[in-house]
Amino acid sequence: MPEGDTIHAAARRVGAALVGKEIVSIETPQPRHAMDRWPDRLAGRPVRSVDAHGKHLFLRFDGDLTLHSHLRMGGMWGVYSRGRRWSRARRRAWLVIRTRHHEVVALQGDPSGATLRGDGPVLELMTESRTRFDLRLAALGPDILAAELDERRFVARLREDDPTRGIGDALLDQRNIAGIGNLWKSEGCFDAAIDPWRPVADVADDEALRLVRALRERMQDSVSGGHTRGLQVYDRAGRPCPRCKTRIRARGQGDDNRTTYWCPECQR
Ligand SMILES: [Zn+2]
Repeated sequence: MPEGDTIHAAARRVGAALVGKEIVSIETPQPRHAMDRWPDRLAGRPVRSVDAHGKHLFLRFDGDLTLHSHLRMGGMWGVYSRGRRWSRARRRAWLVIRTRHHEVVALQGDPSGATLRGDGPVLELMTESRTRFDLRLAALGPDILAAELDERRFVARLREDDPTRGIGDALLDQRNIAGIGNLWKSEGCFDAAIDPWRPVADVADDEALRLVRALRERMQDSVSGGHTRGLQVYDRAGRPCPRCKTRIRARGQGDDNRTTYWCPECQR
């Protein structure tokens, strides 16, 4: 699943292609959106801005209309020069926005599985005011990649969570903090030398803050495509820990059984 850094980077690329540019056409190829008439409703409206909150992306059009998307498993935003081949089949497209020079495309990853589980991709057109009052969006915790991280709100949300829950699992809960996925969860706990299985109740505020501050820096590096340190534990089960050489372990965690990677020796 794309994590917050991937979505923030996509928001930059999509924004660079669309903001201030004349929109030539908008298409919503999926049958689900056939009756929505978005091309008509959005015709002639320039894109004002593109931004992300956690794993959610918002395309804000002139006149109070916002396209809200959450791509879920394997989805991606593509920005292609006109006439260039897309990196995935055309039938995977949910949204195609064309300018004179670019095609901006929301492409779906694994269509069958997600639909069956009922957590398929979200693509919806809403008024700007509704984005502020939408319950799912209001429930989101502070964005780890926001211009200014709301640390107090993060700590408050964490303290409202089940205190027996492992910190690794709690970091994945977008109500506590938005934008962390399975990869960064494991890396963040490793960097902070905190055992992902340690109950939230036993993680002090300053430990939790140290973890998200360091993780925020690594994710910011990833967004800007700058120098990123290689992964330390994620997907490295059985290999030596970069700090103490103990073998890295992997095990499913939380209700969704997402694999957590950690060093049983130097993460406490
Ligand atoms: Zn170690």
